[in-house]
Amino acid sequence: MTDHYRRRSPVSGREFDPMDEPRFVEVPTFMRAPLATTIDGLDVALVGVPFDGGVTNRPGARLGPREIRVQSSMTRKIHPVTRMNPFELCRVADVGDVHFEDLYDLRKAHGEIETFYRRLREAGVAPLTVGGDHSISYPILRGIATEAPLGLIQVDAHTDTWGEFQGSRRHHGAPFRRAVEDGLIDPRRTVQIGIRGAQNVTDGWDFSADSGMRVLFMHEVARIGLDETIAEARRVVGDGSAYVSFDIDALDPAFAPGTGTPEIGGFTTLEAQTLLRGLRGLRLRGADVVEVSPPFDPSGVTALAGASLMYELLCLLAETIAGR
Ligand code: MN
Ligand code: MN
Repeated sequence: MTDHYRRRSPVSGREFDPMDEPRFVEVPTFMRAPLATTIDGLDVALVGVPFDGGVTNRPGARLGPREIRVQSSMTRKIHPVTRMNPFELCRVADVGDVHFEDLYDLRKAHGEIETFYRRLREAGVAPLTVGGDHSISYPILRGIATEAPLGLIQVDAHTDTWGEFQGSRRHHGAPFRRAVEDGLIDPRRTVQIGIRGAQNVTDGWDFSADSGMRVLFMHEVARIGLDETIAEARRVVGDGSAYVSFDIDALDPAFAPGTGTPEIGGFTTLEAQTLLRGLRGLRLRGADVVEVSPPFDPSGVTALAGASLMYELLCLLAETIAGR
């Protein structure tokens, strides 16, 4: 381990790697990574976006970053399957949360998120985000956008390509429709995995299909199996740059009850790990885990799932960066 990960007690002068300490000690940053004082020289920024001003049902995802910092104290270094250590491949740090001057204005708050991510992009730092509701993925994609639209792997019970709701086009059921309209993602290189649940209208499903996205409904995933699902996702996204967005409601509520719009018939945590592990080698520019709502998560199991999937995403990002 480089000095990057070491901390020095201002009292005792003792130097230590927080990751090697007992799980329950020290201030909980994401994965016990150092709290960054600068983004210079960083490869991966762990970012909290404590914002849930775009929810259509149960709120609480604003508390997701804080709770996932706590649950991610369980994170360790070496991956059980690949034996790789993302913290060795890359310089990783917790850069804190996006700050809001205009928390109660959805458009302005999204603008602040976009500005934050543009700074990371300009510094060449890949963001790994914890939300927050899913509306944040739209300004994140705006912030990290370059000339070419990104491919997208979205794991979610919902397509989030719906139209206006209660007078807003920026709610958490719409980020990827906005992203297509702005040319931030290429719908032909977009795959949506785990879609399910009845709807009153089919506008979102139709937008996804009509725009050219590959929509893998959960019943199709169940029929073709995980290996085929992974192969299809890889085929759709191809070799170009891509982004992964993981909505925790893709998991079955038995595994992730703490979320705003739960839908039964979802992935197990093991299936989600297997799915993400199948994405090795894709050219990822960033990723997020969203929609963990601690008030509906009394045991903390949803935040633990979110933290654990965040580690899988970190491993994917680290391998991409190390391979460049
Ligand atoms: Mn969802
Ligand atoms: Mn979503």
